[in-house]
Amino acid sequence: ESIIVKELASKMGREASEVIKKLMMLGVMVTINQEVDFDTASLIATDFGVTVEALPPEEDPTEIPEIEDDEADLVIRPPVVTVMGHVDHGKTSLLDAIRQTRVTQQEAGGITQHIGAYQVVCQGKKIVFLDTPGHEAFTAMRARGAQVTDIAILVVAADDGVMPQTIEAINHAKSAKVPIIVAINKMDRPGANPDRVKQQLGDHGLVPEDWGGDTIMVPVSAHQKTGIEELLEMILLMAEVQEIKANPNRAAYGIIIEAELDKGRGPVATVLVQKGTLRIGDSIIAGTAFGKVRAMVNDRGEKVKKAEPSTPVEVLGLADVPQAGDILVAVDEKTARAVAEKRIAKRRTEEMQQSQKVSLDDLFKQIQDGNIKDLNIVIKADVQGSIEALRQSLLNLNTGEEVRVSIVHAGVGAINESDVMLASASNALIIGFNVRPDGNARKAAESEKIDIRLYRVIYEAINDVEAAMKGMLAPEY
Ligand code: GDP
Repeated sequence: ESIIVKELASKMGREASEVIKKLMMLGVMVTINQEVDFDTASLIATDFGVTVEALPPEEDPTEIPEIEDDEADLVIRPPVVTVMGHVDHGKTSLLDAIRQTRVTQQEAGGITQHIGAYQVVCQGKKIVFLDTPGHEAFTAMRARGAQVTDIAILVVAADDGVMPQTIEAINHAKSAKVPIIVAINKMDRPGANPDRVKQQLGDHGLVPEDWGGDTIMVPVSAHQKTGIEELLEMILLMAEVQEIKANPNRAAYGIIIEAELDKGRGPVATVLVQKGTLRIGDSIIAGTAFGKVRAMVNDRGEKVKKAEPSTPVEVLGLADVPQAGDILVAVDEKTARAVAEKRIAKRRTEEMQQSQKVSLDDLFKQIQDGNIKDLNIVIKADVQGSIEALRQSLLNLNTGEEVRVSIVHAGVGAINESDVMLASASNALIIGFNVRPDGNARKAAESEKIDIRLYRVIYEAINDVEAAMKGMLAPEY
């Protein structure tokens, strides 16, 4: 809740300079293009005899309001499971073993499709497995606000025990509040030692049931396909306890698991429907992509007309490729289009802001816009003595004004790619004294939009920086 000074002034029919003066008296130093918060604005306005009212919080045009489900409408849905664990402990093998034992044998001769997730049936009940093992995918989706997983299977090799990524996986599942079932894999290996695994897991807060704890641990062998049935049963048991539910009778809400541009079919996205039912003809939006469901294909390659909660389906009909982790909702066509356009515009502004790095030429403008408070500089020079001279003179420009010069890095030698990356990360410009950028640095500077200034006279370098800074020091109100 804030307002730009210029706008505040014009709303009150006053000169900006009057407003700025009043603000200064309150100890608030701002320029005409900077913002003041609601409290400050109303204080000033009261001084001018104007009352200020806060607007009701505006609806975010890039968001689609969530539908609240009535508890009574919720019904049990299949659990969604992610397989995590240390590299080479058998995550992929376990996923394959489950798929082979449960899917192909049922669908006599059916070809399973890799669409990013698949459903298996055990005791007449469904379980959904996400096909990308590992916590990276899991975390990437969570970072985008999408919680896909209901249960995590932690795979630990019986002959290798708890390893760094095992611990990482435990922490990721814990922080997402996702319950863990442990699959102690490679039980067929001669060196298999499940008790040692249990011991080690106990040190990380996972105590097996047979030792008085509450973590389910199932010995399995992905190779020999032993223990798979029991593992699936344990998943169902936990799902029952967790009461995993959703309302199937509402507009669909789901998460994009994967998406790609298919040469023949156009944008294809795998959606895991979480709530509601997705139907052919539904108009949908996912991230910045919108469209109409033209066709849906399930994990067995069959065309389907609808997808209920916990069903992964490939969806055709989006006009654009969404990103994994994007939330998909079914909403009327007009809203879908309007919100997608708003999101695209928002993304553009964000991208522009990101690419708006410092350059001496627009320094003054950026300072005026309030974008810059520190002028970060990377110095490269031919000799240490020049670096010191430059550093001192540049720091001498700091006379307590709004913008301060700050040297983020200084070194002897040519400007290299790592200097450019540092400048990019710290929003700095690079000053080279009697040195030049090498080829890679030049390329990187171009793509990162980093301003590299080369000088042979120290005085000129100082002069340029000072002039750029002075630009902003000049305006008087
Ligand atoms: P991921 O990196 O966790 O996905 O592990 P993989 O599924 O790729 O398996 C790593 C290695 O362990 C592969 O060489 C597998 O053949 C082997 N492996 C996986 N499961 C078993 C198992 O149950 N028994 C044995 N002996 N080897 C296994």
